[in-house]
Amino acid sequence: MSKLSEVFKLNTFELPRRPGEMKEYELDIELSEKVGIELIAVPVGGVIEVDARLESVAQGILLSAQIFAVAAGECGRCLDPVEVVIDKRVQELYLYEPKAARKNRAPLLDELDIEDELFMDGDLLDLQSPIRDAIVLALPSNPLCSDECAGLCPSCGGKWSQLSNDHAHEVIDSRWAGLAGLGIDDSDFKN
Ligand SMILES: [Zn+2]
Ligand SMILES: [Zn+2]
Repeated sequence: MSKLSEVFKLNTFELPRRPGEMKEYELDIELSEKVGIELIAVPVGGVIEVDARLESVAQGILLSAQIFAVAAGECGRCLDPVEVVIDKRVQELYLYEPKAARKNRAPLLDELDIEDELFMDGDLLDLQSPIRDAIVLALPSNPLCSDECAGLCPSCGGKWSQLSNDHAHEVIDSRWAGLAGLGIDDSDFKN
Protein backbone atom coordinates (compact mmCIF):
# COMPACT_ATOMS: atom_id res chain seq x y z
CA MET A 1 0.00 0.00 0.00
CA SER A 2 1.40 3.39 -0.94
CA LYS A 3 2.07 6.12 1.60
CA LEU A 4 -0.42 8.35 -0.17
CA SER A 5 -3.36 6.12 0.66
CA GLU A 6 -2.31 5.86 4.33
CA VAL A 7 -2.81 9.59 4.94
CA PHE A 8 -6.42 9.32 3.76
CA LYS A 9 -7.39 6.79 6.44
CA LEU A 10 -9.57 8.07 9.23
CA ASN A 11 -9.80 6.02 12.40
CA THR A 12 -13.35 6.11 13.74
CA PHE A 13 -12.83 4.14 16.95
CA GLU A 14 -14.11 7.08 19.04
CA LEU A 15 -17.49 7.06 17.31
CA PRO A 16 -19.99 4.78 19.12
CA ARG A 17 -21.67 2.32 16.74
CA ARG A 18 -25.16 3.40 17.74
CA PRO A 19 -27.41 5.00 15.12
CA GLY A 20 -27.66 8.74 15.79
CA GLU A 21 -24.20 9.07 17.35
CA MET A 22 -22.10 11.75 15.73
CA LYS A 23 -18.55 13.02 15.79
CA GLU A 24 -16.65 15.78 14.03
CA TYR A 25 -13.10 15.62 12.71
CA GLU A 26 -10.77 18.22 11.25
CA LEU A 27 -8.04 16.76 9.09
CA ASP A 28 -5.10 18.29 7.27
CA ILE A 29 -3.97 15.76 4.71
CA GLU A 30 -0.47 16.53 3.48
CA LEU A 31 0.23 15.04 0.08
CA SER A 32 3.25 13.00 -0.89
CA GLU A 33 1.79 12.59 -4.39
CA LYS A 34 -0.19 15.14 -6.34
CA VAL A 35 -3.97 14.76 -6.55
CA GLY A 36 -5.72 16.03 -9.64
CA ILE A 37 -5.33 15.79 -13.38
CA GLU A 38 -2.31 16.14 -15.59
CA LEU A 39 -2.58 19.88 -16.27
CA ILE A 40 -3.61 20.99 -12.79
CA ALA A 41 -3.45 19.34 -9.38
CA VAL A 42 -3.01 19.83 -5.65
CA PRO A 43 0.78 19.50 -5.59
CA VAL A 44 3.12 17.36 -3.53
CA GLY A 45 3.42 19.06 -0.14
CA GLY A 46 0.02 20.67 -0.60
CA VAL A 47 -2.60 20.20 2.08
CA ILE A 48 -6.18 19.07 1.68
CA GLU A 49 -8.29 20.32 4.59
CA VAL A 50 -11.24 18.16 5.48
CA ASP A 51 -13.98 19.14 7.91
CA ALA A 52 -15.77 15.86 8.39
CA ARG A 53 -18.85 14.88 10.32
CA LEU A 54 -19.39 11.18 10.90
CA GLU A 55 -22.75 9.80 11.86
CA SER A 56 -23.52 6.24 12.91
CA VAL A 57 -26.43 4.79 10.96
CA ALA A 58 -27.85 1.28 10.92
CA GLN A 59 -25.82 0.05 7.92
CA GLY A 60 -22.58 1.88 8.59
CA ILE A 61 -21.13 5.35 8.94
CA LEU A 62 -22.32 8.37 7.01
CA LEU A 63 -19.57 10.82 6.08
CA SER A 64 -20.42 14.44 5.36
CA ALA A 65 -17.39 16.56 4.64
CA GLN A 66 -16.29 19.91 3.31
CA ILE A 67 -13.04 19.71 1.34
CA PHE A 68 -10.70 22.66 0.83
CA ALA A 69 -7.56 22.67 -1.28
CA VAL A 70 -5.67 24.80 -3.76
CA ALA A 71 -4.71 23.25 -7.06
CA ALA A 72 -1.86 24.64 -9.15
CA GLY A 73 -1.19 24.27 -12.83
CA GLU A 74 -0.43 26.16 -16.01
CA CYS A 75 -2.63 28.09 -18.39
CA GLY A 76 -3.19 25.85 -21.41
CA ARG A 77 -2.60 28.81 -23.77
CA CYS A 78 0.16 30.99 -22.28
CA LEU A 79 1.69 28.67 -19.62
CA ASP A 80 1.26 31.25 -16.84
CA PRO A 81 0.64 29.72 -13.41
CA VAL A 82 -3.03 29.09 -12.64
CA GLU A 83 -4.55 28.37 -9.23
CA VAL A 84 -7.96 26.90 -8.57
CA VAL A 85 -9.47 27.00 -5.09
CA ILE A 86 -11.44 23.87 -4.36
CA ASP A 87 -14.27 24.03 -1.85
CA LYS A 88 -16.48 20.99 -2.25
CA ARG A 89 -18.98 19.10 -0.17
CA VAL A 90 -19.04 15.31 -0.25
CA GLN A 91 -21.36 12.80 1.33
CA GLU A 92 -20.72 9.06 1.35
CA LEU A 93 -22.06 6.06 3.19
CA TYR A 94 -19.48 3.53 4.36
CA LEU A 95 -21.08 0.15 4.96
CA TYR A 96 -20.20 -2.24 7.79
CA GLU A 97 -21.22 -5.26 5.78
CA PRO A 98 -18.19 -7.12 4.50
CA LYS A 99 -18.20 -8.05 0.80
CA ALA A 100 -18.15 -11.79 1.57
CA ALA A 101 -21.47 -11.58 3.42
CA ARG A 102 -23.39 -10.11 0.51
CA LYS A 103 -24.54 -13.31 -1.12
CA ASN A 104 -28.29 -12.74 -1.25
CA ARG A 105 -28.37 -9.99 -3.82
CA ALA A 106 -29.11 -10.42 -7.48
CA PRO A 107 -25.73 -10.94 -9.15
CA LEU A 108 -26.25 -8.29 -11.84
CA LEU A 109 -27.32 -5.65 -9.36
CA ASP A 110 -24.38 -6.55 -7.20
CA GLU A 111 -21.96 -5.98 -10.06
CA LEU A 112 -23.42 -2.56 -10.73
CA ASP A 113 -23.37 -1.52 -7.10
CA ILE A 114 -19.89 -2.61 -6.23
CA GLU A 115 -18.14 0.31 -7.93
CA ASP A 116 -20.05 2.91 -5.95
CA GLU A 117 -20.15 1.25 -2.57
CA LEU A 118 -17.63 2.03 0.11
CA PHE A 119 -16.86 -0.22 3.01
CA MET A 120 -15.32 0.24 6.42
CA ASP A 121 -12.01 -1.48 6.96
CA GLY A 122 -12.41 -2.33 10.64
CA ASP A 123 -12.56 1.11 12.28
CA LEU A 124 -10.94 2.80 9.29
CA LEU A 125 -12.64 4.95 6.68
CA ASP A 126 -10.62 5.41 3.52
CA LEU A 127 -11.34 8.95 2.35
CA GLN A 128 -9.17 8.74 -0.73
CA SER A 129 -11.69 7.98 -3.46
CA PRO A 130 -14.38 10.52 -2.45
CA ILE A 131 -11.77 13.25 -1.94
CA ARG A 132 -9.99 12.42 -5.18
CA ASP A 133 -13.28 12.39 -7.11
CA ALA A 134 -14.37 15.72 -5.60
CA ILE A 135 -11.07 17.36 -6.52
CA VAL A 136 -10.93 15.96 -10.04
CA LEU A 137 -14.53 17.05 -10.69
CA ALA A 138 -13.76 20.56 -9.42
CA LEU A 139 -10.83 21.05 -11.79
CA PRO A 140 -11.09 22.48 -15.31
CA SER A 141 -9.90 20.01 -17.95
CA ASN A 142 -8.30 22.92 -19.81
CA PRO A 143 -7.10 25.45 -17.21
CA LEU A 144 -6.81 29.06 -18.41
CA CYS A 145 -5.40 32.18 -16.70
CA SER A 146 -8.47 33.96 -18.09
CA ASP A 147 -11.11 33.16 -20.67
CA GLU A 148 -9.70 35.95 -22.84
CA CYS A 149 -6.13 34.66 -22.74
CA ALA A 150 -4.73 35.12 -26.26
CA GLY A 151 -1.93 32.60 -25.76
CA LEU A 152 1.49 32.61 -27.37
CA CYS A 153 2.86 33.41 -30.80
CA PRO A 154 3.58 29.97 -32.27
CA SER A 155 6.78 31.18 -33.93
CA CYS A 156 8.63 32.92 -31.09
CA GLY A 157 6.67 31.90 -28.00
CA GLY A 158 6.06 35.54 -27.05
CA LYS A 159 2.81 36.38 -25.27
CA TRP A 160 0.34 37.99 -27.64
CA SER A 161 -0.72 40.33 -24.85
CA GLN A 162 2.84 41.70 -24.69
CA LEU A 163 3.59 41.77 -28.42
CA SER A 164 2.91 44.71 -30.68
CA ASN A 165 -0.25 44.66 -32.79
CA ASP A 166 1.74 44.25 -36.01
CA HIS A 167 3.93 41.47 -34.60
CA ALA A 168 4.74 39.00 -37.36
CA HIS A 169 7.52 36.75 -38.56
CA GLU A 170 9.11 36.58 -41.96
CA VAL A 171 7.58 33.64 -43.75
CA ILE A 172 10.25 31.38 -45.19
CA ASP A 173 9.59 30.14 -48.70
CA SER A 174 8.42 26.57 -48.31
CA ARG A 175 11.04 25.33 -50.84
CA TRP A 176 13.80 26.54 -48.49
CA ALA A 177 12.10 25.69 -45.20
CA GLY A 178 13.60 22.20 -45.19
CA LEU A 179 17.11 23.54 -45.67
CA ALA A 180 16.64 26.14 -42.94
CA GLY A 181 15.63 23.33 -40.62
CA LEU A 182 18.86 21.48 -41.40
CA GLY A 183 20.95 24.54 -40.57
CA ILE A 184 22.20 24.94 -44.12
CA ASP A 185 22.69 28.56 -45.09
CA ASP A 186 23.43 30.34 -48.38
CA SER A 187 27.23 30.10 -48.03
CA ASP A 188 27.07 26.35 -48.61
CA PHE A 189 25.91 26.96 -52.17
CA LYS A 190 28.54 29.49 -53.15
CA ASN A 191 31.50 27.13 -53.67
ZN1 LIG B 1 -3.06 32.36 -20.24
ZN1 LIG C 1 6.30 35.81 -32.62
